[in-house]
Amino acid sequence: MENDCLFCKIINGEIPSTFIFENETLVMFNDINPKAPVHVLIVPRKHIRSINDLEDEDTGIVSEMILCARDKAKELSIDKSGYKLIFHVEKGGGQEIFHIHLHLIGGWDK
Ligand code: AMP
Repeated sequence: MENDCLFCKIINGEIPSTFIFENETLVMFNDINPKAPVHVLIVPRKHIRSINDLEDEDTGIVSEMILCARDKAKELSIDKSGYKLIFHVEKGGGQEIFHIHLHLIGGWDK
């Protein structure tokens, strides 16, 4: 938990959100400003600023984020049509919220 981190506050329930999936490692919720028909954010419970701050011990978290994204894509029936998985890294990479998250984006053909 990091003070003044929006995603930590969402994870802790200080800011209301609807989780479309959650487990011990991560939560998922819809992006408030979707760039496509499907735009889900996959967010680990552990506060990690960006990809640059990942440590070797975080391997399991990253794997789980990707595998849960795969499962959610299938559940939302966008697996066959295809989708994007995006990490923005720091300001120059378009990152606005400095708590690592994976964007699952797709559903254009729906
Ligand atoms: P990034 O640019 O990778 O840091 O992406 C941050 C994303 O968080 C943006 O796509 C925002 O639309 C999204 N976002 C910001 N605030 C919220 C919120 N309260 N609930 C859901 N998504 C949010």
